[in-house]
Amino acid sequence: MCAIIGANCPPERAPRLGVTQEPLYCATHPKIETNLRCGKCGKLICPKCMVYTPVGARCPDCAQVRRLPIYDVSAANYLSALGAGMAMALVAGVVWSFIPGFVSIWVPLLIGYLVGEGVSRAANRKRSRGLQVIAGTMVFASFIVLQLFRLFVQIAASGRELPMEVVSSAAIRSVVSGLLNPYLLVVLALGIYLAVTRTR
Ligand SMILES: [Zn+2]
Ligand SMILES: [Zn+2]
Repeated sequence: MCAIIGANCPPERAPRLGVTQEPLYCATHPKIETNLRCGKCGKLICPKCMVYTPVGARCPDCAQVRRLPIYDVSAANYLSALGAGMAMALVAGVVWSFIPGFVSIWVPLLIGYLVGEGVSRAANRKRSRGLQVIAGTMVFASFIVLQLFRLFVQIAASGRELPMEVVSSAAIRSVVSGLLNPYLLVVLALGIYLAVTRTR
């Protein structure tokens, strides 16, 4: 140990005068030395328990409180979002089938906005990846409802009794052939994007 400060001492070895060098320990991990503190409550934290948030390093408690309100999506939130999304997809698909050809292609934009808004409200404006998936899927589902509803109207109008396998293969064909329309694909993708951004 050097007695005279600055005399041939490596800088890091020089004792710093006036600063107590008491080692500090993490509040959660008493064996880990640290001098990091939670930016909110001032509790000592270490790299093992600190949580990075948009406003800086936080202890686990404070990070939890911050995350709770909007990103904590409960099963009830998901259920009501799914229920609202399915109901809207069903109604939207049927209404869509009554809209004439050239306007019809733009309908997914409106559906995307409405379904995204509906799913977001049903989930109390919560945000999560799962809600985005529900919103996007329900926009696509409205297109399937449209194609199936059109098919069933045709079958009903023909007055014929068709066996189940004929109906189901016709249903698949009608959905696939609808998707082969590149304009519809683009607008449908935009509608899904709109719905997803409403819940993001
Ligand atoms: Zn804290
Ligand atoms: Zn710790």
